[in-house]
Amino acid sequence: MSNQKTATIIGSGLVGSLWAVYLAKAGYKVTTYDRRSDLRNVALSAGKSINLATSFRGWKALDELGIGDAIREIAIPMYSRTIHALDGKISTLPYGKENQAIYSVSRGEINAKLLEIAGQIENVNLNFDVDCVFADTKSGKFKLKNNKTGEESEHTSELLFATDGAFSAVRYHGFQKLDRFSYSQNYIEDGYREILLPANEDGTHKLEKNSLHIWPRGRFMLIALPNFDGSFTCTLFMPFDNHEYCFNKLTDRDKVEEFFKEVFPDFYDMMPNVANRWEEHPLSALALIRCYPWTNGKMALMGDAAHATVPFYGQGMNCGFEDCTVMWELMQEHGDNWPVIFKEYEQSRKPNCDAMQDLSLQNYTVMRDKVTDPTFKMIHKIEHRMANLFPDNYIPLYSMVSFSNTEYKHALKYGNEQQEAILNLIEKYNLNDETPFDTLDELIFQYFKEAVMG
Ligand SMILES: Cc1cc2nc3c(=O)[nH]c(=O)nc-3n(C[C@H](O)[C@H](O)[C@H](O)COP(=O)(O)OP(=O)(O)OC[C@H]3O[C@@H](n4cnc5c(N)ncnc54)[C@H](O)[C@@H]3O)c2cc1C
Repeated sequence: MSNQKTATIIGSGLVGSLWAVYLAKAGYKVTTYDRRSDLRNVALSAGKSINLATSFRGWKALDELGIGDAIREIAIPMYSRTIHALDGKISTLPYGKENQAIYSVSRGEINAKLLEIAGQIENVNLNFDVDCVFADTKSGKFKLKNNKTGEESEHTSELLFATDGAFSAVRYHGFQKLDRFSYSQNYIEDGYREILLPANEDGTHKLEKNSLHIWPRGRFMLIALPNFDGSFTCTLFMPFDNHEYCFNKLTDRDKVEEFFKEVFPDFYDMMPNVANRWEEHPLSALALIRCYPWTNGKMALMGDAAHATVPFYGQGMNCGFEDCTVMWELMQEHGDNWPVIFKEYEQSRKPNCDAMQDLSLQNYTVMRDKVTDPTFKMIHKIEHRMANLFPDNYIPLYSMVSFSNTEYKHALKYGNEQQEAILNLIEKYNLNDETPFDTLDELIFQYFKEAVMG
């Protein structure tokens, strides 16, 4: 009989495929099951799937395994947000310090690459087209249904990780029936629809390539992330109904065309056939899912299965990858003592992932509305001055979330306190865009010596 340690992963999406590589590195024989077909066999083209912004926490989890560079090859750095105003004016707000960027990567491509990496490991056995239809946390039993034959099979695992996404079957069958399991699923008022902005005829990008483009319009917004083939994956986020501008009013091509001409005229000029391509991607809903506990018996929830969020801070995948980092670090500390690892994992991650979800909701208002607000721009300007003046003491909220692995709960708390302090500074000295830099620096020094640094 073999003494090889074994583990099962349900769902080989972004988190599951990465976690398989981690477990194999720890000496486990890993078997994964996914309801989808094998993405490695599908001809993927950039721009045909959601684009994700990968940031520090994601890179940290990838680099730990030495696979970050393989992903960097399919990622485009975005150093700033480019804001497109209604009157066509364009302004740029850098994300962080010089050379700090978040990276645009196609969800399909990164998943296929991670599966390719996992599939090359002898101890990883990847299975597709099988749907998990039952799970019991205590016994480790789970049932699979083959999507092609309809055949059902029963299995048992000593260690099972559920990375089967926001609507996790393992959570539903295994956890939601447990006594005292807390669960909430909240849809926000808004949905999203993707639109592909094609490349110029010569294959170049129609917009600045190394930037994330935003058309903020108060209650809704359009964003665009670059692809390698010169196209941009654009996403319109907007209420489903009950608003002046909402998806339910865009019922035919004429209305779609009128809408773009009126609210995104510069985008319409680049893509006058937008109405013809409107139906190419479905209208989708956005939900936050909170639950607890995340572990029970032989099973643990990771990634969206534990903490699905809305996409406005670009943290869903990054946070799921950070789950892998945290679980891995606990394995270094506690070996194969899974009861202890599971407890520490859920206790340390839950408050952080709650904060990540709060930050995600908070950032929707920032992106669709505040980026055009003069006070927000002033806060942003002062934050950058502060980060330059006190590089060891002052890190702006966005940087804490996207360019560091500061625990999300601390980022949320400190970030909001910092912004409050800057707002007070602006109000106290009536600062505005005309205030010269040297005056600004002097006041910042004075004020923060007293108020923040003690
Ligand atoms: C519009 C949008 C934009 C986003 N932008 C960003 C971003 O910029 N940055 C970022 O970090 N995150 C972003 N996200 C979030 C990110 O996509 C998710 O957080 C991430 O995909 C979660 O990974 P996961 O592996 O936990 O789940 P998933 O990627 O959903 O993978 C789950 C896997 O489980 C499989 N599965 C499901 N049910 C079963 C079952 N019953 N049996 C077997 N297999 C099953 C699925 O087929 C899938 O392969 C965005 C999300 C959306 C919707």
